Amino acid sequence: MSLRELEHDKAVGLQLLRLLERGTLVHAFLFAGSDAARRKDLGLAFAKAVLCAGEGPDACGACLSCRKFEDGNHEDLIVLARAKDRAFITVDQIEELQERLRFAPYGLHYAVLIEDAQYMNPQAQNKLLKLLEEPPEGVVFALLAESADALLPTVVSRCSCYWLEETDAKARPEILNMARELARLIFEGAPFYKKRGALAPVLDAKEEGRAMGLELLGALEEILLRESLKLAPGSPDLVLVKRAEEAAKDARLALRQNHNTGYTLKQFCLRI
Ligand SMILES: [Zn+2]
Repeated sequence: MSLRELEHDKAVGLQLLRLLERGTLVHAFLFAGSDAARRKDLGLAFAKAVLCAGEGPDACGACLSCRKFEDGNHEDLIVLARAKDRAFITVDQIEELQERLRFAPYGLHYAVLIEDAQYMNPQAQNKLLKLLEEPPEGVVFALLAESADALLPTVVSRCSCYWLEETDAKARPEILNMARELARLIFEGAPFYKKRGALAPVLDAKEEGRAMGLELLGALEEILLRESLKLAPGSPDLVLVKRAEEAAKDARLALRQNHNTGYTLKQFCLRI
């Protein structure tokens, strides 16, 4: 897949293409978002474009590099992930990476993808930081993570950060209205029962409730994100919005993990 062909995150893909086109690529990127598959799609499309030997900024799909990439045997693509039996990406893995990067790439660049970068333990992150501070020539790093929160601020500050939009699709109008009403109640500081009342159609929906809940939470997060951009740093409303955003993210994760819809939404209402 090329950056232009991305199903989601088209906007981010286009921004990256612009950088590639202008030749103003920095050496480290962070792609943060809750959907691991989307993060990886973006990371791979980006790596493919970086490594492509064709004319344009995006992967051409025809050159030797693109063909090797598609066959899964590109020498200059390095994907680092947590080993199956380990809880973390370890410092040993970063040391191995460091060793490998001592050798020149086959082509002009190395593209290093760090999958689930949130699982790097602090030692591994500090080791990586050294690499990010003094990157070997031609190496482009892309850290793929759930959020920037689990990463050391020093690591994040070395990266050009892209946050992937939370919603996969536009919510239906009735769900969008519900999300707007809920956002209004959050800003108003309405009591629990009112917020829960606003969610009644989802709670009553039985089987379809989970899908509706996910759609609603996604729409709500988007509204909150937009509102938060209008607020001054340090304003009390911003604290409110950030708290609700976090709660919505957690609830969405719980629903994706098949937790009980009614219980999850009730907990969510208690937190916002
Ligand atoms: Zn190519």
